[in-house]
Amino acid sequence: MRNIVMLGVQGSGKGTQADRISARYEIPTISTGKLFRAEIERNTGLGREISSIIKKGELVPAARINQMMGERLSEEDTVNGVIVDGYPRTLEQAQALDDIMSGLSRQVTHVLYIKISDEEAVRRLSGRRVCSNNKCEANYHVEFNPPKKDPNRCDRCGSALMQRADDNPEAIGRRLELYHKDTAPLVDFYKKKGTLHEVDGQQPIPDVEAVINGILA
Ligand code: AMP
Repeated sequence: MRNIVMLGVQGSGKGTQADRISARYEIPTISTGKLFRAEIERNTGLGREISSIIKKGELVPAARINQMMGERLSEEDTVNGVIVDGYPRTLEQAQALDDIMSGLSRQVTHVLYIKISDEEAVRRLSGRRVCSNNKCEANYHVEFNPPKKDPNRCDRCGSALMQRADDNPEAIGRRLELYHKDTAPLVDFYKKKGTLHEVDGQQPIPDVEAVINGILA
């Protein structure tokens, strides 16, 4: 069974690769960012609470997110494996994930650390476009990965493409700052556990995918 954590700075390609792993192994991806954006879209209580936090690039409070992950990981569709994208983002969350997993008699088997430079992250986030249909949320880049059919529409579902609210220069800066402060220490945390696999994320998407397939085989 593969219980995979995607680790890497925003824009490293975690979501893109998670989609591909998910299709290959037929296991679901839990993306905390996607779950939050769906809450905002549906204008739920949680959505209203977190909307301005996300727009600024700040982190949603830990208690909220750990509880949500505990519930989501207890759902039936995760029993044969799962990919987690966007979580954990702090050492506290990493510990919480271990606790959730051991409560379910599972463990994190692979941590895929996709490494890119900050300059590359800024380039990718600034040109990123996402499908506005939150059930799809396919990722594109105006220059590096444009849609093949219509430049303004999603290849997969035909919905309009948009820019994420937090892909603006201020929020991108803040997200990178928080990544280095809070998330980067997870590299050592998982290295010590022996589950960390480092992947060069600056290569073209299919090459990154091939490396990951080798790791997961
Ligand atoms: P992402 O799509 O992973 O870039 O997440 C978008 C935003 O959702 C982040 O900038 C945070 O505001 C929030 N978020 C997502 N995952 C987490 C997490 N594990 N802990 C705290 N906030 C999170």
